[in-house]
Amino acid sequence: MRSADIRQAFLNFFAQHGHTVVPTSPLVPDNDPTLLFTNAGMVPFKDVFLGRDPRPYVRATSAQRCVRAGGKHNDLDNVGYTARHHTFFEMLGNFSFGDYFKRDAIRYAWTFLTETLGLPAEKLWVTVHTSDDEAERIWKDEVGVNPERFSKLDEDNFWQMGDTGPCGPSSEIFFDHGPGVWGGPPGSAEEDGDRYIEIWNLVFMQYDRDAEGTLHELPKPSIDTGMGLERVAAVLQGVHSNYEIDLFQNLLKAAAKATGYDDLQAPSLCVIADHIRSCAFLVADGVMPSNEGRGYVLRRIIRRAVRHGHKLGAVDPFFHTLVAALDAEMGDAYPELRRAREQIERILLKEEQQFSRTLEHGMGLLNAALDELSGDVLPGDTVFKLYDTYGFPFDLTADVCRERGVAPDEAGFQRELEAQRERARAASQFGADYTAAVDIDGETTFTGYEQLTDEARIVALVDA
Ligand code: ATP
Ligand code: MG
Ligand code: MG
Ligand code: MG
Repeated sequence: MRSADIRQAFLNFFAQHGHTVVPTSPLVPDNDPTLLFTNAGMVPFKDVFLGRDPRPYVRATSAQRCVRAGGKHNDLDNVGYTARHHTFFEMLGNFSFGDYFKRDAIRYAWTFLTETLGLPAEKLWVTVHTSDDEAERIWKDEVGVNPERFSKLDEDNFWQMGDTGPCGPSSEIFFDHGPGVWGGPPGSAEEDGDRYIEIWNLVFMQYDRDAEGTLHELPKPSIDTGMGLERVAAVLQGVHSNYEIDLFQNLLKAAAKATGYDDLQAPSLCVIADHIRSCAFLVADGVMPSNEGRGYVLRRIIRRAVRHGHKLGAVDPFFHTLVAALDAEMGDAYPELRRAREQIERILLKEEQQFSRTLEHGMGLLNAALDELSGDVLPGDTVFKLYDTYGFPFDLTADVCRERGVAPDEAGFQRELEAQRERARAASQFGADYTAAVDIDGETTFTGYEQLTDEARIVALVDA
C-alpha cells in the first residue's frame, strides 16, 4: 500500500464512522504563542477541546502535517540515528469532542489496524497509563489483546501538547518489527531501540494544564489520536525504517544525485531527505530563516542539512534543488507546496550561499580540533568560536561531535556566551541596540534585550 493510499484509507474509515474530514492546517499555529510549530494533529483543535471554539461536528479526522524540531516535542537530534523519527511527518488522527470516549477510540483503532490494514494481532503491543484500569479492561476483556503483549506505564502514557494546554492519559500501540534490530518491548530497558516501534497513540483528553501546572477538567472528556503515516507505511510496505518507504525513495535518490554520493543507506542522505521536507514546508507556511524564534529553528535545520551535504562531498549549493523532487512526491497532496515552489528554492539557495561562506573554514577548524583532542569533550571556547565566527549553531557542532564519539562542553560554551553577553551589555550603553529575541526551545515572545538568547544574537552579529 502506497503512503497516499494509506492516508486515504484512514480518512475514509473514519468518515464512514461519522467523522468530518478536516483539511490539514499550516505548521505555524494561529493564535497560539505558546507553541513553536504544529507538532500533532490535535493542535488545530486545541480550542475545540477547551470548549472555546464551537464546531458544527463532534467527530473529526485529519492528516496533519507536523514539525518536531523544538519545544516540548523535539526530534531534531534523532534524525539520522533512529529508523522512526523525522522533523517533518504526517499524523493521521481521529478526534471526538465530547462524543465517544475510550471504548470507541480503542475499538476503532484496533479494527482499522487488524481489519482494514490486516495487521496480525500478535505483532501488536499495547500500553496504557498505570492508573487506567478502565482502558486495561477494554483492551483485555473486550478487544481480547494478549496480556503478554500488554503493559501499564507511567510518563510514557501521559500525553501533552506542550507545557500547558490539553492533555491526558494515553494508550499506545506498537508494532514488533521482529528480531534483527536492537530493541525491547515497551516498558523494558531496551524500549528506546527500534524493534518495537510505536505507531499509534490514543489520548484520552481529560485535562487542561495551566501555567502553574495545575490540571483542570476539560468541559467534556474527549479523544485525540495520532498515527505516524510514515511509520505505518513502513509496516505495510514490509520495511523496517521509515526512510525505506515509497515516499522517501525518490527524495533519497535526488539527494544522492545532488550531492554526488550514491550509497542510499547513508545516514547523511536520510538527514537531507528529512530536512528538505521540514524546511520546504516551513517556508511554504510562511517561516523565513532568521535569527529569532521559528525562523531560527528553520535556519538551524537548513545549516544542518547543508553540513551533511558537505560531509558527502557536495561542493556547490545542492539543498534547494531537492524542492523539485519533493514537489513531485507531495505537491499533489499539498498544493500550497507546489504554489510556493519557486520561492522556497530561492530562499533555500540564499541560505546555502550565505552559510557556504563560513562552512568550509569552520569545518576545517572543527576537524582539526577533533583530531587534536585528547579525551572526549570538545572545549566550550572552540564550540563558541565556531558559533561566533562561523555561524555554527550549537546543535550542528554537537551533531559533528557525535559522529566522532565526542561531546561538546555545553556548560563551557554557555559561559562564553555569558561573557559575550556582558560585553554586548556594556557596548549597548554606548548606543548598540540588540533587539531580536528568541527562545530556541519553545515559545517566542519579544522580551527585549535582557532575556535575549545568546545563540540568536551571536548569529545575528556573525551574519550582520
Ligand atoms: P516516540 O516515542 O517514538 O518518539 P511519541 O510518543 O513521541 O513517539 P506521539 O507524541 O505519541 O509520539 O505522536 C503520535 C504518533 O506520531 C506516534 O505514535 C508516531 O506514530 C508518530 N510520530 C511521533 N513523532 C514522530 C516523528 N518524529 N517522526 C515520525 N512520526 C512520529
Ligand atoms: Mg517522541
Ligand atoms: Mg512514545
Ligand atoms: Mg506516543
